[in-house]
Amino acid sequence: MASIFQPVRQNGTNPSTASKVLHPNIYTPNPKVVSAKGSYIILDNGSKILDASGGPGVVCIGHGNTEVRDAVVAQMDRLSYCHSLTFANEAAEDLAREIVDSTNGVMARATIMCSGSEAVEAGLKLARQYFVDKGEMQRVHFIARKGAFHGTTLSSLALTAKAAVQKPFEPIMLNDNVSFVSMPNLYRGMHPGETEAHYVDRLARELDEEFERIGPSRVCAFVAETASGTSMGCLTAPSGYFKAVREICDKHSVLLILDEVFCGMGRTGSMHAWEQEDVYPDIQTVAKGLAAGYAPISMLLMNQRIVDTIQAGSGFFNHGHTYSSHAVACAAALAVQRIIKRDNLLQNIQTTGDCLGRGLRAALGDHPHVGNIRGRGLMWAVEFVNDRKTKEPFPLKERVASRIKSAGLKDPWNIALNAGMGTADTIAGDHITITPPYNITVEEVELIIDRIKGVVEEVL
Ligand code: PLP
Repeated sequence: MASIFQPVRQNGTNPSTASKVLHPNIYTPNPKVVSAKGSYIILDNGSKILDASGGPGVVCIGHGNTEVRDAVVAQMDRLSYCHSLTFANEAAEDLAREIVDSTNGVMARATIMCSGSEAVEAGLKLARQYFVDKGEMQRVHFIARKGAFHGTTLSSLALTAKAAVQKPFEPIMLNDNVSFVSMPNLYRGMHPGETEAHYVDRLARELDEEFERIGPSRVCAFVAETASGTSMGCLTAPSGYFKAVREICDKHSVLLILDEVFCGMGRTGSMHAWEQEDVYPDIQTVAKGLAAGYAPISMLLMNQRIVDTIQAGSGFFNHGHTYSSHAVACAAALAVQRIIKRDNLLQNIQTTGDCLGRGLRAALGDHPHVGNIRGRGLMWAVEFVNDRKTKEPFPLKERVASRIKSAGLKDPWNIALNAGMGTADTIAGDHITITPPYNITVEEVELIIDRIKGVVEEVL
């Protein structure tokens, strides 16, 4: 019997040895990682897990890169931290120049923080400040897209149209200032017989009507992921969609914010995902691929029009964090970016991404529960359905993606996959995403496909 000196938790673990980290499932800690190298993660039970997802698309140059480690140590020897409100530091200056230059003049300045949600929040504030500095105080509204994921802090959560993550917090979010239009979805959104061009027209009309409904002069910005990440399973837009969006934003003098926290920094095969959409954002976020997991870092980029307006107005962006422009994080990101460039990894993303897409379709395309396989570059998703003909999703309680993810971590599969939310809108709903490092080999891609095929056939 448990005495008051040896309390026993609900699941029988002794609190003195139980994890003190609040894991997603409080009573079931996640498998513990002891080390990682290249494309593999080693667990404390000795399992060697093939990292096919790099977390949510974070690990872009593999694990345990010693060049990045050396750059971080060298930076720490010089300077770890100084407050960005008082001082500039060389690593932040070099990183901002590197990323701004990579936009070929589209973006003019960058501000650096620690997470994707922070970058999105800062983007909303920057858009608002742009209009305040222009004297358009009535602009308070943001339009985003249903099913999008933009983060988990209160304002970024307001744009994250996912009931499963919003529900408890709705009463304290900025809902009144946000509304939603349809997410382009070639698999589920097109009407039977509709062409891609007609679908784009319909989506554009819906957006324009939403501007009219809100009153265009009340809107600050339209916010969209250029290609959606884990949340909607690597959805890319139909061709011409972002061009139409840009035209509508311009017509109403509204800013276009492209959230490339997930899809930016090479993931789709170009440094910026918008390069493939023939469109320029006014404000852009990037994060995961920036330091590839070697440091928590994100960046907000803005064009010259915004810089000029703020310079002529209040004179400074009224925003910042204690850890803005953190020197060590910037040094890690710089080292990662130089490796991506030097090793021509964008080319490898295109080659191995093609293999991954083709291989997934060949291995799983005929499976009775695989509805759609889609992606671009090295971000791919497999969407599962209860019925291929009707596209009926699995019932929410089945949490198919979560079951595949858990089974994948066990022998003989030993593969880390990401479980997305998607149509079913549970935390781990109806699709898995595969987002391996940019330096993955064709042989490793083939191994990933074999193991995914095995685990899917075991679970479904
Ligand atoms: N925006 C997008 C498109 C994302 O995919 C994510 C995270 O997955 C975020 C924002 C939030 O980033 P973070 O989890 O670093 O706060």
